[in-house]
Amino acid sequence: MSEENNTNTQNSQPKEAAQNQENTRTAKPFAKKRFESRRKVCKFCAEKIDHIDYKNIQLIKSFTMDSGKILSRRITGTCAKHQRQVTQAIKRDRNLAFLAYCLPKK
Ligand SMILES: [Zn+2]
Repeated sequence: MSEENNTNTQNSQPKEAAQNQENTRTAKPFAKKRFESRRKVCKFCAEKIDHIDYKNIQLIKSFTMDSGKILSRRITGTCAKHQRQVTQAIKRDRNLAFLAYCLPKK
C-alpha cells in the first residue's frame, strides 16, 4: 500500500510542475512587453535644466492636458523636484492668463 501511495504522489508532482510551467509561459509575454517597451526619464533632468521658467509657455503647456489640467508625474515621467517647479509655473501662468484654469469639454 505504502509503495502505491508513493508512486501516486510521484506521478502527480511532475504533472503539477508541468502545469505551473505552462502557466508561467502564458503569463510571461504580457509582463515582458509592459516593462521593456518604455523607460520614462525626467525631461528636465535629461536636459540638465535646474530652474523652470514660467515664461516658457510652450514647454509648460506640454505638461497640461487639453482641458488645462496638470499632467501627473506618473504620465509625464518628471521627477518630484521638477514636477514641483512645473506645477508652480503652471499656476503662475494661469494667474497671468498665459494658460487656462479649465476649458469646457467638447
Ligand atoms: Zn528632474
